[in-house]
Amino acid sequence: MDKGLKFEMMGGGGSISCGDCSFSQKIVSFTHGGFESESGSFFPSCSSGFQCESCGTFTTRDQTVPFAESRFTRTLEGVPNEQRAHRIEIIQSWKRSLEIDMRNKPKDLWRAEWEQNLIDYTKELEAVSPEELQAIKEKREESKKDYAASLFCNCGGVLRTNKILFCPLCKNKNLKYDMTFIT
Ligand SMILES: [Zn+2]
Ligand SMILES: [Zn+2]
Repeated sequence: MDKGLKFEMMGGGGSISCGDCSFSQKIVSFTHGGFESESGSFFPSCSSGFQCESCGTFTTRDQTVPFAESRFTRTLEGVPNEQRAHRIEIIQSWKRSLEIDMRNKPKDLWRAEWEQNLIDYTKELEAVSPEELQAIKEKREESKKDYAASLFCNCGGVLRTNKILFCPLCKNKNLKYDMTFIT
């Protein structure tokens, strides 16, 4: 069995050091964050640790969201402009999973509120212009693409987050992690 340290076993931030040489570095494994806009909307983000598969450099990438988080509501009425795109995405995902449930389950197993919910979600989304829906989709895809494009090291190597970590100096896998904070 392959033994060693992986980011998914770590969490938070701290320092990583090698048991076979003098290598030691402060790193982030995974942390949550975000910022509040002037109008009080929250844009969540997270930071994830990566290791370059070529040169072994440890680094961090921040993933931000393109839309402010919206508060729970089943309608778009009264949703602040900044939060509207996020709420539209949520209602779209509710509608999609309802449609999947209703397709996969016989009608006598449907929950009582499903049909009405589907009508309500459909109505909410029909009131949104196709241009707005398209703009939301494009912004979401662009944000995903930007993040994917950021997952490269300065050396040109691919950044990985799911592999067993190795020491950038001696290349051994005898690394130790001390978590000093978590968010
Ligand atoms: Zn590299
Ligand atoms: Zn080492």
